[in-house]
Amino acid sequence: MSDDSRDPTLPHHAHQARLAAAEALRRKAGWQPRPGQGGASHLEHLRAQERRHQGQQAYAEAAFCQPCALARAESGDDSALCQNHLAQALGLR
Ligand SMILES: [Zn+2]
Repeated sequence: MSDDSRDPTLPHHAHQARLAAAEALRRKAGWQPRPGQGGASHLEHLRAQERRHQGQQAYAEAAFCQPCALARAESGDDSALCQNHLAQALGLR
């Protein structure tokens, strides 16, 4: 949340009334903040998408990765990854 909407020329009680009106609007079913207003959750959504994409990318590369093949052979786990691709799949790179 930013304080950009605060208007210093308004008396305090007018600001409070505006906050209350905004809060009432938020409580209405189906009301969603516009993109760029509910900033944090929108950004979080984008990051989650990116992590999913990185995970898919890591598994795609792992199919042709020698250390990954070794990790699969050693662990007997078809989904085993080498350190690099494991980190990528977890979104650490
Ligand atoms: Zn690998």
